[in-house]
Amino acid sequence: MSRNSPEILASPIEYLKGVGPQRAAILRRELGIDTFRDLLELYPYRHLDKSRVSAIADISATTEFILVAGFLGSLQILGEGKSKRLVTTLKDATGSLQLVWFQGISWMEKNLNPGFRYRAYGRIGFYNGEPQLTHPEIEGFDELKGDASPLQPFYPSTEKLKARSLGGRQIARLTQQLLSQLKEKDLPEFIPAEICLQLGLISRFRSFQSIHFPPAAPVYQQAVFRLKFEEFFLNQVRTGMIKTQRQKQSRGVIFSQVGRLFHDFYSKALPFELTGAQKRVIREIRQDTATGHQMNRLLQGDVGSGKTMVALLSMLLAADNGFQSCLVAPTEILSNQHALHFTRMLQDLPVTVRLLTGSVKAAARKKILEELASGSADILIGTHAILEDPVLFKNLGLAIIDEQHRFGVAQRARIWKKASIPPHVLVMTATPIPRTLAMTAYNDLDYSVIDELPPGRQPVRTVQRYEYNRPNVMDFIKEEIKKGRQAYIIFPLIEESEKLDYENLMKGYENVKAYFPEPAYYISMVHGRQKQEVRETNMKRFVSGDTQIMVATTVIEVGVHISNANVMVVESAEKFGLSQLHQLRGRVGRGADQSYCILLTGSRLGTDARERVRILCETTDGFRIAEKDMELRGPGDIAGTRQSGLLDFKLADIVQDREILHQAIETAKNLLAKDPELEEPGHTALRRQLLQEKGKTPWSRIS
Ligand code: ADP
Ligand code: MG
Repeated sequence: MSRNSPEILASPIEYLKGVGPQRAAILRRELGIDTFRDLLELYPYRHLDKSRVSAIADISATTEFILVAGFLGSLQILGEGKSKRLVTTLKDATGSLQLVWFQGISWMEKNLNPGFRYRAYGRIGFYNGEPQLTHPEIEGFDELKGDASPLQPFYPSTEKLKARSLGGRQIARLTQQLLSQLKEKDLPEFIPAEICLQLGLISRFRSFQSIHFPPAAPVYQQAVFRLKFEEFFLNQVRTGMIKTQRQKQSRGVIFSQVGRLFHDFYSKALPFELTGAQKRVIREIRQDTATGHQMNRLLQGDVGSGKTMVALLSMLLAADNGFQSCLVAPTEILSNQHALHFTRMLQDLPVTVRLLTGSVKAAARKKILEELASGSADILIGTHAILEDPVLFKNLGLAIIDEQHRFGVAQRARIWKKASIPPHVLVMTATPIPRTLAMTAYNDLDYSVIDELPPGRQPVRTVQRYEYNRPNVMDFIKEEIKKGRQAYIIFPLIEESEKLDYENLMKGYENVKAYFPEPAYYISMVHGRQKQEVRETNMKRFVSGDTQIMVATTVIEVGVHISNANVMVVESAEKFGLSQLHQLRGRVGRGADQSYCILLTGSRLGTDARERVRILCETTDGFRIAEKDMELRGPGDIAGTRQSGLLDFKLADIVQDREILHQAIETAKNLLAKDPELEEPGHTALRRQLLQEKGKTPWSRIS
């Protein structure tokens, strides 16, 4: 085996023939190409099929790009200064077409040979009604010799690259150079032979050759399929193994029984029948926590799907087994809300619920800390104050984090240290993540979905209204307030520090005040520049009904639940992302009454903005919205998965290539079921490949 030969693909790009230090520097800066491998993985964005030559007579007003072949006419230099140009014609059996260059005139003049056969490619433009090609790609062409590869690759380039003679053409040449230096052993196969056979995969070596210079279109398709499959497959095997490893290695506390507390609550105090999805998730959590390995579960459910009840029942399960549990919420208001709710629900049961936030006074705080240390407090609810060092539990068995996207990795990691055996961790997210994304980015976690809403919900009625409808919208709010309801009016404040946004908010507030003057109406205002206390006070006034209108920025996005508020107006809705709008809308529509979401927009919207508004008016299904959001924005931006490093697919796209993804999931699962550690001789190459990439295994991501 030649494993020890230096790996050619890791060579710095400057050592490739035709590159050198100067071009290397530009390639690095402009395209991020450091090594041979990087160049190999700079894929062409399309190919020109040179066998598809068009007849010049077929050019019409709708022709865009075209490849024509024929004899070159004589060269003429016309005009002066800026309009100085080289003009010639290309003539085939059907007609002739004008070719024009404004730049590189003398070079072209020297190198073009009138009377010889050429092939020219470019975008058709019209000048005085006549079609012409300006700055076409042109090459001498002899039909008798034909092409090595009729499919010419096109590579991304930039102006700076072009200026240094590193346009798409030159990049193609460099890639060709690189490929000619590579041998099979430089791109060794690592997908097990039985899988290659079963799926008809062409070899890696051939795939790389053919994705750049395909001998024919079908081979190109095969190469693309193979390389995309490979990316998904590696991701799935890697994350699958991480998950098994974690489950095997991480010792967890055991919740062996469902006891009195759970049963009593379930049969006597549960105010409603659980949905099928809630039941299923609780079953999953019970199974997980009984095995002796640490649960690391992500629970996804749309706003209002009833995640809180799942949290409460899980905490009772912990208590039944003699363990304490905690629930961490992102804001004080939300913590208060949870604590109140839990205390009320559990009042007839022998469990002690405590609330710990930044505003708990020293004496009370001390007492709570003692109760936690002695074990007399069973359930702790609070903000991340819970994660602070002096908070020590006697035996923390379960940590639940609500609305996960507000928490960083470091904060979560702290929970681990709260017990000698790490507690089970349940992270509840309110922003649904598309399934395909979850299957790739979170495959190494235990994963549950609540995909069903409690019965009897009336979907929020969502409409779009234009700026000039504002008076009507305000009148509508007045009507609802007259019925005793409350309303939110949300302003965009993308960056809390942006002065302009802030001024907009203030103007907006004045404007709202003009429609709703005191003392008939009172308004709360909440935004990120306020001191915490001011914000909390304003919030509380709205919660208690002292104010009827809340003017706010997206700081209220997360989890607050004020059932009397049934109107949500979003100002400049076109400026918000889909998921964000969905989150905002989730603040209303939790009661049995009809709620409304009004998206105020300008009258001229871009395509994407119009699409976002349309989708929101059309559906309230968070998972569908998440899928759409991903289609519009790309997976990298969703749910902070970009940093995770698990999703840097070069070629594959989890939206477009869903089917390949499913194939990879299936295949990886079967493989790991047969050989979980990849110990069989036929799997060692794959194992080695994964080890080489082990930087990609941030398995402490979640807890
Ligand atoms: P979220 O998943 O957004 O945190 P919540 O847990 O706050 O949702 O639940 C939203 C509302 O639905 C609450 O008022 C809750 O009491 C109610 N709820 C939860 N589960 C059910 C159910 N199975 N049947 C009826 N109402 C439910
Ligand atoms: Mg919630």
